[in-house]
Amino acid sequence: MTGVEQSKSWFGRASAATPGGVNSPVRAFAAVGGTPRFMVRGEGPHLWDADGNRYVDLVSSWGPMILGHAHPDVVRAAQDAATSGLSFGTPTTGEVELAEEIIRRVEPVEQVRLVNSGTEATMSAIRLARGFTGRSKIIKFAGCYHGHVDALLAQAGSGVATLGLPTSPGVTGAQAADTLVLPYNDIDAVRKSFADNPDSIAAIITEAAAGNMGAVAPLHDFNAQLRELANAHGALLIMDEVMTGFRVSAAGWYGLEGVAGDLYTFGKVMSGGLPAAAFGGRADVMARLAPSGPVYQAGTLSGNPVAVAAGLATLRAAGEPVYQALDANARRLGTLFGEALTAAGVAHTVAFAGNLVSVFFTDRPVHDYAAAAASETWRFPPFFHALLDNGVYPPPSAFEAWFVNAAMDDAAFEVIEAALVPAARAAAAAERP
Ligand code: PLP
Repeated sequence: MTGVEQSKSWFGRASAATPGGVNSPVRAFAAVGGTPRFMVRGEGPHLWDADGNRYVDLVSSWGPMILGHAHPDVVRAAQDAATSGLSFGTPTTGEVELAEEIIRRVEPVEQVRLVNSGTEATMSAIRLARGFTGRSKIIKFAGCYHGHVDALLAQAGSGVATLGLPTSPGVTGAQAADTLVLPYNDIDAVRKSFADNPDSIAAIITEAAAGNMGAVAPLHDFNAQLRELANAHGALLIMDEVMTGFRVSAAGWYGLEGVAGDLYTFGKVMSGGLPAAAFGGRADVMARLAPSGPVYQAGTLSGNPVAVAAGLATLRAAGEPVYQALDANARRLGTLFGEALTAAGVAHTVAFAGNLVSVFFTDRPVHDYAAAAASETWRFPPFFHALLDNGVYPPPSAFEAWFVNAAMDDAAFEVIEAALVPAARAAAAAERP
C-alpha cells in the first residue's frame, strides 16, 4: 500500500460536489470508516486506485463483472457499438438479440422489456403486476433490496440496512401503505398475510435468493411455497434476479431451483457493466404493457446500443466454464474465510447462495434479516480494513454479498489468503461497542 493521499484528496473534492462524496451510499465507507478508494482502472481480477494501489476485487461492481474487468470481448463489443453511434431512440437489432438471449436462458421468460437500472425494472414489474391484477398490495421481505423504489424501501437490505434506516424520509405513508413487509423464509407469515388481505395482494416480490442482507439462500421449498400461495390467491410472483441472474448459473437462480416466477427482474450481468436492466415474464402479463396494453412504461435510453452490446458480449462469453469457475472461486473463498477465522478463534458462519458468499460473525444459522442484524457486525470494520490494507477490495458493509469473478487466479487467491491472516486477527481483537 503506497498510501491513499490521492483518494483522500478526491474524496474531499467529491464531498463538496456530491452529497456524501458518492453516487451510491455504500461506496462512502460509512459503515466501516476510512477513505473510500477512487478507482482508476480495472483488469481481470484487479482494481487500481488513484494512488496506484492494486486490489483483488471481491465486489465485481456489485455483481456485473463475472468475467473480470475489461474483458477483451466485452470492451471490443462496446467500442464497436460506440463507433456506430451512441443512441438512436429507435428499435435496434442488438436489443432484439439481447431479449432473445434472456428468453433462451430463462425458460419462464417469454417476453422482455429493457430498462436502464434494476430499480426501474422492479418499479415497472410492480406497476405491471398491479395493472394486470387490478390489486394494490405487494408483499416484500425484510432485508431484501429491490432498488430505491419508494414502495420497496421499507425494511430494505443493502445500503438501507448498512445505514440502519427503517425506510427513507421522502417516502409518503401512502406510497408505503400498500407494502406488506414480512420476515424472509417465513412461509407462515406469507400464508397469514394472504388470509388477512383477501383479494387485495397483487404480487409477492422476492430476491430469488437474498444477497442484500448478506447471502441468505431461501430455505428448502420457500420459493416453491411462495409459488403455490401466489397461485392459490390470484397474485403474481415476481422473482428479482437482478443480483442472481446470469451469475449463479446460466439461467440464474431459476437454473438452480426451477421455481417459475410470473415476472422476473434482471440487471447487473446482462449489461456487462454498462447501465442496462430488464424485466420480463409470462407473455399474457407482458402484453398488458404499452404499447400492446395500457400499463405505461418507457425510457429515452432504454435498449441503449452500447450497453446492449456489452451485455450480449458478456452473456455470449459466459458459457459453462465461466459458471464452473465462479462456483469454484466462491467455494475457495469460503474455505479461506473459514480457515482464517477458525484459526483466529472467531465465531462465524460462511454462507452461500449459489456462488454469492458472505461471512456472518455468528455461529448461529442466518435465515433472515433479524438473524443477520443480530450477528457481531462490529467485527466487520477491522476485518474489512485489514483486507483493504493488504490488497483486497471487500464490500464495505457486513450486509452485502461478496462477488467473485471468473478471472480470479491462483495469484489472486494467494493475496486473499495472506490478507485473511491479519484480517481474522483484527476481527478477533475487535471490541463490542
Ligand atoms: N434488485 C436487487 C436484488 C439488487 O441487488 C439491486 C441492486 O443491487 C436492485 C434490484 C437495484 O438495481 P440498481 O442498483 O441497478 O437500480
